[in-house]
Amino acid sequence: MAAIFLLLVIGAIYFFIINPRKLQDKRAKDVINDKPIFPPEWRIILAEKVTFYNTLSRKEKMRFENEMLEFLDSCRITGIGVEVEPIDEILIAASAVIPIFAFPDWSYQNLYEILLYPNAFNEKFETSGPDRNILGMVGNGYLKGKMILSKPALHQGFSNESDKRNTAIHEFVHLIDGADGAIDGIPKHLMDKQYLIPWLDLINQQIEAIYAEKSDINPYGGTNRQEFFAVACEYFFERPKLLERKHPLLYQLLAQIFKHDMKMRNMHKKRLTIGRNSPCPCESGLKFKKCCGMKHYQ
Ligand SMILES: [Zn+2]
Ligand SMILES: [Zn+2]
Repeated sequence: MAAIFLLLVIGAIYFFIINPRKLQDKRAKDVINDKPIFPPEWRIILAEKVTFYNTLSRKEKMRFENEMLEFLDSCRITGIGVEVEPIDEILIAASAVIPIFAFPDWSYQNLYEILLYPNAFNEKFETSGPDRNILGMVGNGYLKGKMILSKPALHQGFSNESDKRNTAIHEFVHLIDGADGAIDGIPKHLMDKQYLIPWLDLINQQIEAIYAEKSDINPYGGTNRQEFFAVACEYFFERPKLLERKHPLLYQLLAQIFKHDMKMRNMHKKRLTIGRNSPCPCESGLKFKKCCGMKHYQ
C-alpha cells in the first residue's frame, strides 16, 4: 500500500513538476548570446493556425517570434492532467503577444504561471461533472499570478475564426486591463484621458444594446464592464473589419487603446498548409525544405 502511494507521489512529481520544465528546456539556445532560438518548425504551426501571424511583414514576424519567446521565458505553462504540447505553448504565447503587439516593451507583470486544463471547468475547478461552463480565468486570491485555460477552448479560439471568440486572448485582455491595479474594463495606462468618458458612455450603451438583444456582441459581455471589454477585444482581434462596420465608434476606441489599426490587417488571408516545396513561412523567399524545414527533409 505504502509503496503504491510512494509511486503515485513520484509519478505526480514527475508529471507536474519535472515534466513541464523538461518541455521548456528543450528549446535550443543560441551559444553566442545564450538566448533561446525560435524553433523553425514552430513557424509551420503559426502559419497554419494563427492568421494574425500571416498578416505580418517579415520584420514583424521576427518581432512576433521574439516576443513569444520572451513571454514563454517569463511564464511557466503547467498541464493539469493534460500534456503541454508545443502547439499549446505556441497558441498561448501568440494569444499573449497579439493584443500587445504595438507595445514592444510590454511584459505581463501580473502573471507567472498558466495552468492548462483538459476541459471546461466549474467554480470548484472540477473538469468533469455538471455545470462546467468556465473556459478560462485569471486567478485572484491564492491563484494570483496564475491563469487557467481549457486546452480545447485554447485550440477552438484559433480554429474558428468567424465566431469573434478567442478564450486565451480574452484572458490576456483581462491582465492588460488589470495592469493599472484594477480589472474594471478601463485600461487606464493605455488610454489618453480624453477618451475615458466617451469609453464609459460607449460601454454603457453597448451593454444596454446587449440586454435589448440588439447587438451581435457575445452576450457574456453584458455581465459587466470588464467582461464587455474582454469580449469586445476578442471581436476586435478576430474580425476587425466587421467590428468597424457594425460598431465604428467601438472599433475606433479599441484601435486607439491598442494603438493598432487592426482593419488594415487582412484577417481573411487564407491560412497556409506547409509542404516541402511551399514558400517558407519565414518569408525568406526560399522553399520550406531549403530553409526552416531543412531539418525535416535531410
Ligand atoms: Zn472574462
Ligand atoms: Zn525559413
